[in-house]
Parts: sequence; structure tokens; C-alpha cells
Amino acid sequence: MELFPYLSALLIEEVERRPDKVVLRTRVRAASGSCRCGQSSARVHGRYVRKLRDVAVGGLGVVIELRIRRFRCENTACTAVTFAEQIVGLTTPHSRQTPLLRGVLTRIGLALAGRAGARLASAVGITVGKDTLLRLVRALPEPEVGEVEVLGVDDFAFRKGRHYGTVLIDMATHRPLHLYEGREGEDLAAWLRDHPEVQVICRDRSSGYAEGARIGAPQAEQVADRYHLWANLGQAVEKTVNAHRSRLAEPPSEPADTPDEPQVVQLPTELKIVTRLREQHAADHELWQQGMSKAGIGRKLGLHQATVRKLVNAPSADDLVAKSLQRAHVVDPYVGYLHRRWNDGVSNPGRFAGRRGGGKMGPRPSGTPMHL
Ligand SMILES: [Zn+2]
Repeated sequence: MELFPYLSALLIEEVERRPDKVVLRTRVRAASGSCRCGQSSARVHGRYVRKLRDVAVGGLGVVIELRIRRFRCENTACTAVTFAEQIVGLTTPHSRQTPLLRGVLTRIGLALAGRAGARLASAVGITVGKDTLLRLVRALPEPEVGEVEVLGVDDFAFRKGRHYGTVLIDMATHRPLHLYEGREGEDLAAWLRDHPEVQVICRDRSSGYAEGARIGAPQAEQVADRYHLWANLGQAVEKTVNAHRSRLAEPPSEPADTPDEPQVVQLPTELKIVTRLREQHAADHELWQQGMSKAGIGRKLGLHQATVRKLVNAPSADDLVAKSLQRAHVVDPYVGYLHRRWNDGVSNPGRFAGRRGGGKMGPRPSGTPMHL
């Protein structure tokens, strides 16, 4: 009993060691039981055996067989005619594990979730299904959010391009506080109204969160978070450098008098957007020719349905390039560069030469000037 203080209310009548487990046959020491109405009773109505699983001992799982009595309730005002005895600290109605085992399984579930958790449990002598582990984790009470002074808010993809959610983070502890479906500012405002202590909100530059933060926490200062500042700066630099590429001098080529050192080869660079269009078009058409559905292609390549349709319908990658060139606002910064590349004949790769037809740009002898 000193080894198992949580079994002190029980009399262990027999211990049986089987090849795969240890079985403890027990009954309750007390002479009477208490009904949920508070009345105690010693009038036994019947008995049955209940089984509880416990943590492993010596590498073997433990099963506690409890000989449970059902008592008659003698309180005439009580709606229960009979009641089964419960052992404080050991059983609750319908439980099939001891609190100790339940605690161990919950920790395993938190660390490894379903499948991996079930594998680890089996290695330490506990047979448990993945669904049981997940159920234990879900049954845990939500941790207290507490006071949040600096709140981070950002979106995340359940499925890229399709389905988004929002995560709120305590920037002091980097602990996630709350998740919700969608990216609506109204939902952010609702959470903020319950947290008037928030002083600073770090967010991306979307207008939804800005509006939600303004309505829900007018007292808080809004700042752009470091990630988005770096990302936006990177994009701006890339755009600017691309716009001025044609004016950048090529680095002077080194004299080839050091044969041991590898030579730096200057490869022609294509605009990122054009490269990506070509790659997507090729991948998309390959899958389409294999008979995959547009929805299937979208899932496989992580593209929106409308993008897949656009790619499938374009007979050649050059059609797509032409279309994106028509979107003047996107291309404006690159006009000088594109013009130069076009006149160099770069946008006419041999790979697609045989598959043209009906394209807006059409075949074009190298050297024909393009007017944008
Ligand atoms: Zn009662």
C-alpha cells in the first residue's frame, strides 16, 4: 500500500501475473457508500466487477479489478433508487483508467499526439488507441490567457490560396493564445474587447487587422512586425534592382590565369515572374495531359482553381507572359529591361517553339523590335 497510496481505500485480495499484464483483484474497505444526494447506505442491492487500467509495473500493464457494490438509497426524497459506489481519487462514473494513468497518457498525447503517442505508450506497456490520446488532449481545460501587453496577429494557411485562419500570439512569451477561422478584423476586435490591457499590436499591413485593432483596442499602438518589415523591404529592393538592371554594369571578367579556381559563369537572368509562369505552365500541362482534373492539379501544385484554368487554357507559356505584360502596372518598373531582353531574343526559347499557335505574340524573328 505504501507503493500505491492511491489504492488505500481498497483491499487487494489477489494479485495475478499473466504473460501480458498484472491483475489486482480488489474490493472497497468501507462498509457503506454515499449516494450523490449525500445519504450513506449499507444496504447492498447487488455487485458487479469494474476494470480500471493503471500505469505499468515492471514493464507490464496493470488492471485493477474492482468488486463494486450497488447500494439502495434510503433517502425517500432522492430520485436515485440505487447507486454504485465511487472511490474518491480513483474512480469517476464511466472512467476506465486510474487518474495516474490518465495523467501519463495525457502527457504522451500532448508531446506526440495520436499515432506516435500510441506507439510510445505500447513500448512502455500501455495499450492505447490514437483516438483515446487525442480525446484526452481535447478534454484538457483551456490554459488561462492572462494579461497580454504586446499582442502579435498574423494569418496562416490551412490550405494555401484557399483557406486561412488567424493566430494571436503573446509577444512576451511567444505563446499562441488563440486561433480563429478567417482573417476578419471583426473577430480580432471581439477578442481585443476582452483584453483592454493590450498596449501594442504587432501586425502585417493588411487593412482587415488594422481596422479590427482600431475598433477593438483604440488604446493600443499598432506596429508592423519585424518579419513583415523585412519581407516588404526585400520585395522593394528586388523591384528596384530589377527596374534598374539594364543600367548595372556587368562585373569585369577575371583573366583566366588561375586554372585551379573555378570560373564564375554569368548566366542570363530572366525575370522571376516570367520564370515562374513558364515552370507553372509546364508542370500544369504535364499533369493535364496525364488526365488529372483541374481540381487535382490545383491541389498538387498548391494553385488556385482560377490559376489552373488560366494555365490549362493557355496554349503556350508565351501567351501567359504576353498577358502579364499587358498588366502594365505590374510590369512598368521592368519595361526597359524587358525591352532589352526581348530584342535579344530571350523570350523565344526553343523549348516552346514547336507548340505555338494562336498566341498573341506569335512567332517572331529574333531582332524584331517590340513596342510596349
Ligand atoms: Zn440518494
